Amino acid sequence: MSNKRVSYFYNPDVGNFHYGTGHPMKPHRLSVIHSLVLNYGLNNKMQIYRPYKASAHDMCRFHSDEYIDFLQRVTPQNIQAFTKHLSHYNVGDDCPVFYGLFDFCSMYTGASLEGAMKLNNNDCDIAINWSGGLHHAKKFEASGFCYVNDIVIGILELLKYHARVLYIDIDVHHGDGVQEAFYLTDRVMTVSFHKYGNYFFPGTGDMYEIGAESGRYYSVNVPLKEGIDDASYWQVFKPVILNVMDFFQPTAIVLQCGADSLANDRLGCFSLSTKGHGECVKFVRNLNVPTLVVGGGGYTLRNVARCWTYETSLLVDETISNELPYTEYLEFFAPDFTLHPDVVIRRENANSRQYLEAITKYVYDNLKMIQHSPSVQMQDIPGDAFIDDNKTKEEDPDVRISQELEDKTVEAKNEFYDGDKDHDREEMET
Ligand SMILES: [Zn+2]
Repeated sequence: MSNKRVSYFYNPDVGNFHYGTGHPMKPHRLSVIHSLVLNYGLNNKMQIYRPYKASAHDMCRFHSDEYIDFLQRVTPQNIQAFTKHLSHYNVGDDCPVFYGLFDFCSMYTGASLEGAMKLNNNDCDIAINWSGGLHHAKKFEASGFCYVNDIVIGILELLKYHARVLYIDIDVHHGDGVQEAFYLTDRVMTVSFHKYGNYFFPGTGDMYEIGAESGRYYSVNVPLKEGIDDASYWQVFKPVILNVMDFFQPTAIVLQCGADSLANDRLGCFSLSTKGHGECVKFVRNLNVPTLVVGGGGYTLRNVARCWTYETSLLVDETISNELPYTEYLEFFAPDFTLHPDVVIRRENANSRQYLEAITKYVYDNLKMIQHSPSVQMQDIPGDAFIDDNKTKEEDPDVRISQELEDKTVEAKNEFYDGDKDHDREEMET
């Protein structure tokens, strides 16, 4: 539990965006978390930065020029002119056009990018961006409330200095956008723990998705059933991550902390407490590898705020009181006004011990197939993102951009688009 240098990236404007009335994604949660972080005094334990805003050029390191150009130009006023493009880019319902959309993407993406740069320069050991973690965004389109994939862009920056980057995702949904981006490379291992089955969004993440070509065995999926509690989650999380560390030996980690895996989430169906969720974060912190920590899903605002505030305290290794400090948002936390309210478990844990043991063994058997600590050659290190601003666009061999991917994207869309979407949980559970 050595002391770590923690950098925290927060743009005070990022909480002011609105996806629209009734939409479950509420950027306002970021203002609430920041207020709790300040009032607990956690700002004294870390460096706070107002982050860089990502440019269209930064975003095009992963996304197509046409898609980013569209995001830059579309507004609620001119949306009629883009009618044809909306469905093409999967923008409209789940991923609405709202005021300042591109600015919002610039803020959360720039924070992840700057976090990766600070880690690369050894300016910190841990970089936190609660506004990031939008893991569903695809190269050519928006998906599941995500427009620009800040995680992929952050990992691409880390790959300039790191031979192997590990991605860990504890959101209730499969980290499909990140997995797809790095499906063919052995330089990034993606590990996602998520609800799978009954058409739960996004529909991917079966344990048999293991990567392809050079990336075979470098995608790890842990499909879980509803109602998983702290003890069961830990039973699978700890051995899987220990085995991944042993076989892959990453030199940098990106941890996506989606809080929709908490009990009583508006969209999720797991039964984790903030302590159980935080245990995973603490465990990754104590692996002593430079780590970019990002947010993600989380749709019961008061619980997301509790969770990421608590996890900030774990990352800076500071014990904080269960009694919440006074903030302008205190009424959100009635009636208990605590950091760790009792978890009321509303659904049975459908994950048997045997089921979890079987997945853990399957993952272990696959990991054994990769060469122990492959010696990936360091390539010439390209310049840092902010300086390297010429418009020449190199093909990046570590990002998956093949025709096969395009085909797969279309196929996935047909397969899953019409079914459930993130917001209609009632339907999903029948
Ligand atoms: Zn999610």
